Amino acid sequence: MDNKRANTEKKMPLAIQIFIALVLGIIAGLMLQSQADFCNTYIKPFGTIFLNLVKFIVAPIVLFSIMSGVLSLRDIKKVGKIGGITIVYYFCTTAVATAIGLLVANLFKGGFPMLSTSSLTYEAANSVSGMDTLVGIFPSNFLIPITEANMLQVIVMALLISFAMVLIGEKAQPAIEGVERWNAIFMKVMEMILKLSPIGVFCLLCPVVAANGAAVVGSLAKVLLCAYICYVLHALIVYSLSVRALGGMSPVTFFKGMFPAMMMAFSSASSVGTLPINMECTEKLGASREVSSFVLPLGATINMDGTAIYQGVCAVFIAACYGIDLTMGQMVTIVLTATLASIGTAGVPGAGMVMLAMVLTSVGLPVEGIALVAGVDRIFDMGRTTLNITGDASCAVIVTKLLSRRKA
Ligand code: ASP
Repeated sequence: MDNKRANTEKKMPLAIQIFIALVLGIIAGLMLQSQADFCNTYIKPFGTIFLNLVKFIVAPIVLFSIMSGVLSLRDIKKVGKIGGITIVYYFCTTAVATAIGLLVANLFKGGFPMLSTSSLTYEAANSVSGMDTLVGIFPSNFLIPITEANMLQVIVMALLISFAMVLIGEKAQPAIEGVERWNAIFMKVMEMILKLSPIGVFCLLCPVVAANGAAVVGSLAKVLLCAYICYVLHALIVYSLSVRALGGMSPVTFFKGMFPAMMMAFSSASSVGTLPINMECTEKLGASREVSSFVLPLGATINMDGTAIYQGVCAVFIAACYGIDLTMGQMVTIVLTATLASIGTAGVPGAGMVMLAMVLTSVGLPVEGIALVAGVDRIFDMGRTTLNITGDASCAVIVTKLLSRRKA
């Protein structure tokens, strides 16, 4: 009897546990609005512990899962094919995302306030050129990419080493088995860490709601609402259509399966931090491991549709606040730079705001305008990260389907 009860208790799905934690986190945050310090001192640290554990596992997961993905394909051409489809999909959906952001923000423009902007100051981080980004992809050291969790470099490392293993063939067999074993071990560690996600979600969300509750109700509500409308539109139109048309999956099944990962992204505001649970969700949805272990880490690093939307919306908002009307040419420039900037954005909280400087500069808008939205960046970030990882997952579902069609 006791055993039976223990089993049913165990069976409460993680998704529901996370959802309950999310709701409780919001309620507790609203109740503790006057106690933001208390939240930061006593609640946030537990969220940080959880995020630290997730960060700890991410580099080995990316390294070994990409390696085992390539090794299971045993065919460098096939890896190239998957990579090609993935990059085209990522690029196109991100460009559409920016366009949706600009379109909806222009509809909202009349409602954006023209603000007194003389007191604004924002120190832009040193912007990075396209060439520097390219150079930065390639590691110059064997360990640093892992210790610094530089995902693009870890991906390059994993590809190089696993390609070499495929080329060596028989002689590399023990190493290939070693990779499979380490992959299984780190997957297990990840599973153990993910069991803590409800606690992580609660402790991450509560302090954010406590600190931002009032600001959201204030003057920034309109621009936030605008961004969230775009996030939802993009998910409902672009992902639903592509998952249905290219992936042969009902959008309802897709979003239902993705719910735990989406909640995690919403609370943690980190695509990289959401990677482990995203892998689990997409595999449950039927994406093959060989595809998801390649497509998702790449997506968490370069595919940021939510970030692109945010950059488009904020550019229009900041222009409106300064009383500037954007021309058609400037809009096209924004689509291009926001697409590139989102590719260069790291999958960690707040990274998209830093890259916004690049978008504003490209069309001559004042970078200090970022100060207008910086206060509630976290709220933008929660939504954009949720969209970012959903886009990655849709790609994994689609690529799996396309490959199985070719095989058939
Ligand atoms: N936090 C986002 C992510 O991890 C990146 C961003 O700031 O836009 O996907």
